[in-house]
Amino acid sequence: MHPVIAIPADSLTTPSAAINLNQADYSPHMIKNALIACKAVPIVLPFPEVDDAVTPLVDHYIGLFDGLLLPGGPDIDPTLYGEEPIPELGAVIYPEDRFEVALVRKAIAAGKPLFAICRGMQVLNVALGGDLYQDLVTEDPDSRIRHAQAASGQYPTHHIKTMADSRLNMLLGDRVYVNSRHHQAIRRVAPSLKVTAVAEDGVVEGVESRDSHQLVGVQWHPENLWETQPSQLDLFADLVARAIAHAQ
Ligand code: MN
Repeated sequence: MHPVIAIPADSLTTPSAAINLNQADYSPHMIKNALIACKAVPIVLPFPEVDDAVTPLVDHYIGLFDGLLLPGGPDIDPTLYGEEPIPELGAVIYPEDRFEVALVRKAIAAGKPLFAICRGMQVLNVALGGDLYQDLVTEDPDSRIRHAQAASGQYPTHHIKTMADSRLNMLLGDRVYVNSRHHQAIRRVAPSLKVTAVAEDGVVEGVESRDSHQLVGVQWHPENLWETQPSQLDLFADLVARAIAHAQ
């Protein structure tokens, strides 16, 4: 069986000469490449611009896929967790966030397995009632590691450690050298999630569901590492295996 894995689309909001558009739904090549390498069928889900369309569209989408992959992307609208934006917040796309939160809640309720990357892990946490640092450097005095790396995105720059008996530990081992392209991070962890990986400054780098294997999230970008660190592809293969198990 080749399970269908849905990827919510990101949105291009600045002019692009290459496609002659300044508004477009898109998904990174490296995400689809990783899924195809694991024999999954990727599909991309565009979000609606208007509030009224969110629920009906999510209701249609939910039947189209076996598993959900939440990719990286822009900052998350802090009003979704009850805060107003601080000056250090980056550009946010409210309709994208509102749609992904609704999609995640629906997918979890339907029992679909989920793997979340970077912003995706933060969306997962917000959808389940947790919150975020809008900007790590401003809001977390304990964070003494550079999480918004200057190095090119495919190069690892800091270490993480995984918790014993976690899925991340089983897949990757105790200590991993990862890339880091985020200035936001999980602050209060959602009640149904547990932290299963941290950086050496305590920043949350991985979460999993407390009582099942339904949810896995990482703060780094494994789609940009697996060609040099083959075990990073196991994160995608794990989602595909969970999606097959759910579908059967
Ligand atoms: Mn990091």
